[in-house]
Amino acid sequence: MDFLRNGILFLSTKSKKENTPSDVIDNNMTDLYRLLPEEMEAMVIGMGQPRYRADQILHALYHESPKDIWDLHQLPTTMLDEIVAAGYTIGSANEVHRVVSEDGDTTKMLLNLVDGTLIETVLIQYESSKHNGHPRTTICVSTQVGCAMGCVFCATGQMGFERNIRAEEIVAQIIHFAQLLRKREQHVTNIVFMGMGEPLANYDETIRAIRLLTNQRAFGIGQRSITISTIGITQGIDRLADEDLQVGLAISLHAPNDKLRQWLVPTAGPHSVEDLISAGRRYFKKTGRRVTFEYALIDGINDSPKIADELACLLRGNGSHVNLIPVNPTAGDFERPARGRILAFEQILNDTGINCTVRVEKGSEISAACGQLRTDVVESIKRPQMHYKPDKLPKSD
Ligand code: SF4
Repeated sequence: MDFLRNGILFLSTKSKKENTPSDVIDNNMTDLYRLLPEEMEAMVIGMGQPRYRADQILHALYHESPKDIWDLHQLPTTMLDEIVAAGYTIGSANEVHRVVSEDGDTTKMLLNLVDGTLIETVLIQYESSKHNGHPRTTICVSTQVGCAMGCVFCATGQMGFERNIRAEEIVAQIIHFAQLLRKREQHVTNIVFMGMGEPLANYDETIRAIRLLTNQRAFGIGQRSITISTIGITQGIDRLADEDLQVGLAISLHAPNDKLRQWLVPTAGPHSVEDLISAGRRYFKKTGRRVTFEYALIDGINDSPKIADELACLLRGNGSHVNLIPVNPTAGDFERPARGRILAFEQILNDTGINCTVRVEKGSEISAACGQLRTDVVESIKRPQMHYKPDKLPKSD
């Protein structure tokens, strides 16, 4: 039953056989969305079934979004019984809340995982940018519940870390939106790992999710349509470069020097700015994919012309791209710079020959910043208001 609490509409999405945390944890149930095509084949062959049954299941999972095993109508009932008896399930996440921006371009979903934790996923469409008549449609997925990195300007960073999100739960985020888009005769064109959490701190599950999403027998999106954003775990960047994947990499730099960066990203400790630039270079050399440096612009903190000059010196001649992201006001005390200050910062980088763009703001009225909606909902339900108040804000010139 749908219900309204504190002004927020919660949707009832219970399936016939809704899982509980104990199903997953105590009984070792495995969601079929976790299985790579070769694992699905091994499963059906192990049941004495022909190999083509694996492709029937995969086709149903990725084109029909079944809610539970009994929705796999292509399979004989005896096989469905056997799949259930073997401990397989479907349904890692249920939608509990959805908000759509006024222009309809941004949709944010709050999903409830089987252990009751909430994660958020965002769909952003760019009508002006079309691929074969379809708007560019990007889904921003979460890879962790909360985040241990503690970036001071980020709502997720202020939640703390709860747990890693499993590959099938990452895939479930895409499947929910793919289903929505199918009804509009649209499809997912891009996936960015830029939601809650640090994807390279949940490395194995992130890579499994990417292999599921890019396998042509599974979700089938092109590797080049995926971008992983990292706060800068250099060992993870090097591992990723060796995966033989063609995914894009975005490194969140946010500052041109270690002192400021360590203030903004308290866990940055061992990774100096120079380490991150070097890791980006190695990634480019190994994969041929240009690395983007993301830079959250914060009023009065890291947005001065002097800091822009410092950043320009650091990145000059690297062939890198800088994405300036005016910070979303969150639970902290940070503001986005005035438009003129953003453009002046961009100009300094452009004048140095650095390819630079300012991210188009989408969906700010629906809490589109990473972790913001979840924070809003969780706080409205059970927690007292929490504000991050740093002792000393470093001021830029
Ligand atoms: S910005 Fe990214 S890495 Fe930093 S706390 Fe937020 S989710 Fe974690």
